[in-house]
Amino acid sequence: MPKNGFTTTILHSDRRAGAEHGAVHKPIHPSSQYAYTDAHEIAAVFQGKPGYTYARQGTPTTAALEAQVTQMEQGLATISFATGMAALNATFFALLHRGDHLISSKYIFGNTNSLLNTLAALGVEVTLVDATDANEVKRAWRPETRMVFVESIANPGTQVADMRAVGAWCRDKNLVYVVDNTLSTPWLCTGTEFGASLTVNSLSKYIGGHANALGGAVTNTGLYDWSTYPNIAEPYRKGPVSTWGLTQIKKKGLRDMGGTLSSDAAHRIAIGAETLALRMDKCCANAMTLATFLENHPKVASVRYPGLASHAQHTRAAEFFGGKFGSLMGVDLVDGIDLFEFLNWLEIPILATHLGDTRTLILPMAQTIYYEMGAKQRALMGISDTFVRISVGIEDTEDLLADFTQALGHF
Ligand SMILES: *Cc1c(COP(=O)(O)O)cnc(C)c1O
Repeated sequence: MPKNGFTTTILHSDRRAGAEHGAVHKPIHPSSQYAYTDAHEIAAVFQGKPGYTYARQGTPTTAALEAQVTQMEQGLATISFATGMAALNATFFALLHRGDHLISSKYIFGNTNSLLNTLAALGVEVTLVDATDANEVKRAWRPETRMVFVESIANPGTQVADMRAVGAWCRDKNLVYVVDNTLSTPWLCTGTEFGASLTVNSLSKYIGGHANALGGAVTNTGLYDWSTYPNIAEPYRKGPVSTWGLTQIKKKGLRDMGGTLSSDAAHRIAIGAETLALRMDKCCANAMTLATFLENHPKVASVRYPGLASHAQHTRAAEFFGGKFGSLMGVDLVDGIDLFEFLNWLEIPILATHLGDTRTLILPMAQTIYYEMGAKQRALMGISDTFVRISVGIEDTEDLLADFTQALGHF
């Protein structure tokens, strides 16, 4: 049978894998323990045979979701987590030791930036660079460099990292290359096609898509040769070399740290994932229309959206994401408009700190997610005091345009 497309594959994933009683969704397994009748068997599972033991390390329901994410990312295997942050924590802490050097894009999610500060406090050297330019990444290299981290489209600035050139260089230098694909989603691109070693997704965002479950995932692309990575502990240097890194993330990062995805949340996310492509296409189309409208509005100073020709990485984005540009944009209003008053006039966009929902969400950045880090760090990350983030949803396009017209009309 020819390989199916993105949506067909996800829709039929559970059934084809043999869900119980012919169920079309993998059922929600709430059991926290998995029993065996043969002592040899439970020992074998502890020693690496596929199977379930204690739900902190996964359930049949989380495994079904992981299989879907693996197919979406065209990877080898995936591990799910309670949140995207748990997935990032597990990846960094399981693979980096004191004295190792991490090169990260400076254009990243605020909480990820905070997490990197924690890593640095524990002795991992962290250098933040402008990853829209691969040469900046290369210049940061040291003999202790182990890992490079970028976001495909940066939250919230929408900078598009030079993912292909960085990937090629990481391959030459034998560095672990981690791509956070949350904002582009595997529907617009996969980490695999840019040479990532590991691809991270927040499942709470577009993949789940309905703001009713949190989750995160790390996918092994199979492209990294872990036999040369110095930090893989002896027990995980077993089986195919391509699996060692993810095995260590599962043991040190999921089992020991405990940021486990529940079966309930996994089920909700899997239902959301069925319509990822449909929702994402509508989100992208709405965002393109709204960004164009706002850029031409006299009360708007600037719009940052990769779909606009004015965006610094527009050409790269068009190539990387197949002519789609995601649904996140940053907007600055002209001087003299009270930002909070404008936000309060809007009727459809919800004032909420989330993105990738079916509903349009809007949030001033400097006063919320980026408040804690202070003005200096905000300036470094390109977050002005007037910067508003919009995550465009799937509402009827005319309604969104009418609402923004109405709200801006008050000034
Ligand atoms: C939201 C987000 C995360 C964290 O995901 P949670 O599921 O909210 O923990 C990580 N990376 C990016 C780019 C995000 O937008």
